[in-house]
Amino acid sequence: MGVSRLTEEIAESPTLKLNDRARALRDQGENLVHLGIGEPKNAAPLGALLNAAARLTDGCVKYTPTSGLPALKSAISRYTLDYYQREVGPEHILVSNGAKQALYNIFLSIIDPGDEVVVLAPYWVSYPEMIKMVHGVPVVVQPDLDGFQHSAEAVKKRVGKKTKAILINSPNNPSGVVYSDEFVRAMVEFGESHGIYVIMDDIYHRLVFDGNEAPGALQYAQEDLEKTHLLLVNGVSKLFGMTGFRIGWVVAPSYLVKAMTKFQAQTTSNPSMISQVAAEGALNGPLDVVEGLRLQMQNNRNVILTELSAIPEVKVVKPAGTFYCLPDFSAYDPDSTALAERLLDKARVVTVPGAAFGMEGHLRLSYAGTIRDIREGIRRIHWAVDPKAPKTLRIGEKEIVRDWL
Ligand code: PLP
Repeated sequence: MGVSRLTEEIAESPTLKLNDRARALRDQGENLVHLGIGEPKNAAPLGALLNAAARLTDGCVKYTPTSGLPALKSAISRYTLDYYQREVGPEHILVSNGAKQALYNIFLSIIDPGDEVVVLAPYWVSYPEMIKMVHGVPVVVQPDLDGFQHSAEAVKKRVGKKTKAILINSPNNPSGVVYSDEFVRAMVEFGESHGIYVIMDDIYHRLVFDGNEAPGALQYAQEDLEKTHLLLVNGVSKLFGMTGFRIGWVVAPSYLVKAMTKFQAQTTSNPSMISQVAAEGALNGPLDVVEGLRLQMQNNRNVILTELSAIPEVKVVKPAGTFYCLPDFSAYDPDSTALAERLLDKARVVTVPGAAFGMEGHLRLSYAGTIRDIREGIRRIHWAVDPKAPKTLRIGEKEIVRDWL
């Protein structure tokens, strides 16, 4: 009787756990600032809403093919051609319940027990746990260059006989860093020549600032998509801020799409039809929604950097994309979990400890919310960590005295 060993071994998602705790505090009427959440506040694009509404109105909401609705796959093909200049057919696409399930389907399909996956730190919290869930071994590589960047040489050194895949996420959650074109190209070409899968999590690919672009990994994959080792993960969650629709996808060789489809069929069948129809509407609609979101996040990035610069001992790498940054608070507290808990308990600010992303001493701050939240959140953090800041903090009617520094 009792839960499996695997259950004991897998960590809870710290971000979702914090979100639940924050929701409970808010329900109790607490004045909370949320710098933890990974979703923008925008409404879904009109094209998505109209498409979904039309389908709901005609009442024909049924199962779809396991690997995704043909109309959505066509929209994904067109989008992939536009953005990555690569033609991909429906046999190269698997649509899943969010990029999260897309990634899990990949791991289920390529990992045998004991196989290793090289994961670049800082990494998205779910990667190591998902790899462990399929009895694989995450091999975490710390950045060897400044600004959370990796050199191809250092990553290649961590590749061994058991390495099945290298997992790359750029623009990166949690740091906001975009890896160089040179690095991405070197990794894809290395994967192709050594028969190692390169999983490119491209979920933030358009949220890049200052007139730059994220390197399009797919352009470096070999011509014949049946032979490529590049597996491209994407979705509408971050691109259009459609997190709740839960639609993501993988572009991969057809033998892997078939393998992943088998797992998906036996677990969740198809992603919700309404959500697929909505995603199709978003992809086929104008991309001004994405551009609006990108500009807003760029502005928010500038605001959070300015606010953070007021905290004397905090160092931060300027994010080149996403809606996160990963400032270094180790001069104030090297234990990021204790710090995040103190910030929530005492200052009512939600942050995520860097330890969850393989980067102890740091905090992940999301600037996907409002400017007001960003300013208020950093004001409270400043008060909570800096012994030179005024002793008291006013939150609404309450005046709180700092008694731990
Ligand atoms: N990959 C990264 C790097 C993410 O940050 C997230 C969500 O936070 C996902 C994948 C999951 O995306 P989805 O919500 O589409 O499952």
